[in-house]
Amino acid sequence: MSPTHPITKELHCPNCEGAGASTFYHVNGVPTHSVLLFSDAADARNFQKGDILLAHCPSCDFIWNTRFDPALEAYGLGYEATQAYSETFNAFHRQLAEHVIERFALRGKRVVEIGCGQGEFLSLLCDLGPNEGLGFDPAFDASRKDVNRSDNATFIADFYGKKYIDTRADLFCCKMTLEHIPDTLDFMRNIRRAIGNNPDAALFFMIPNAGYILDETAFWDVYYEHCSYFTPTSLGALMTGAGFSVTDIYPAYDDQYLVVEATVSTSTPFDKSSNSELNGNRVRQFNENVTRFKTAWRRRLEALAAGGQKAVLWGGGSKAVSFVTTVDVGDNVSAAVDINPHKWNTFLPGTGHPVIGPEELAGLNPGLIIVMNPIYMDEIRRELSRLHINAELLPITEYMPRLVDTTP
Ligand SMILES: [Zn+2]
Repeated sequence: MSPTHPITKELHCPNCEGAGASTFYHVNGVPTHSVLLFSDAADARNFQKGDILLAHCPSCDFIWNTRFDPALEAYGLGYEATQAYSETFNAFHRQLAEHVIERFALRGKRVVEIGCGQGEFLSLLCDLGPNEGLGFDPAFDASRKDVNRSDNATFIADFYGKKYIDTRADLFCCKMTLEHIPDTLDFMRNIRRAIGNNPDAALFFMIPNAGYILDETAFWDVYYEHCSYFTPTSLGALMTGAGFSVTDIYPAYDDQYLVVEATVSTSTPFDKSSNSELNGNRVRQFNENVTRFKTAWRRRLEALAAGGQKAVLWGGGSKAVSFVTTVDVGDNVSAAVDINPHKWNTFLPGTGHPVIGPEELAGLNPGLIIVMNPIYMDEIRRELSRLHINAELLPITEYMPRLVDTTP
């Protein structure tokens, strides 16, 4: 264990119940919510903060925030996580829905989506099938008029939990939710109980890819709400441990996500040999690489400021919040641009940087625009050209340290 990390008592893995985990990365004083909308800069700056201390389980590869306190989470209305304003994401979403329908022969069936957000994806599954859908999400807001919702979908603005154990479905779908669950094994065992006597039911889960985060030194993908981080190994261990049979695990969205498909049948055992394994070096090196990465960005921003210019972030979501707090950018970043109008005239939790619409960019005359998700570079370049903005455009990955191969 690195001496820079506080000594932690014996850690038991919430994903496989194994012992022997060690901590490897910490960030203190991060906002406990990175996508809450604040209309007041002081409220945004004063918002409650928590600590991140990541541990890695050597048995199943699971990574989790040992300092995560569910009591600090107030997930519900005011939580703006939709990516539905990006054409790149919408195209991906539609393709994914078509893929799920093909994969599970999902026509005339019943689908449950756990953590359905504003219901965009479930509605696609219901309309393209057609299928009947039931979505759960505490942040679901029935009054939102900007979402195309299927007439075949019903929504419950609540956490999916023990009280919905009688819910029956042919497919349990869960996208970008498991990373918010601290007791992952307990959570999956509940779903397994809910499926009970339906041997044909299948699972489709999608989560951020922890292997990608480590390999790309993507520290901006580590934030408080994400208490659980998965590799194919830890995802497979979780599903198997909860009584599911994994049929496939594969990356999606330029390797940023991982998908796991599973059934309750035991006829198709998952081939563990196809899994990639994290080695201890790769995990330990993350902390060192983040330090180098942060330093490089700080120097770039200071040099820009010395020349009388400021940077603007493109993207006002959790990646932006993690970037400004981890790098400690201060006033060298003047704002974050977001294409989601619900975020305009709000302030980033933790630092209070203003979130503005693209049309306001010209007034700021930024010297540099840092793109929080490089997958949107082309889309943003087109938008900047339309707005006649000539600032330098760099992806957040620009100063990524080169990985040192430490395998013997
Ligand atoms: Zn484990």
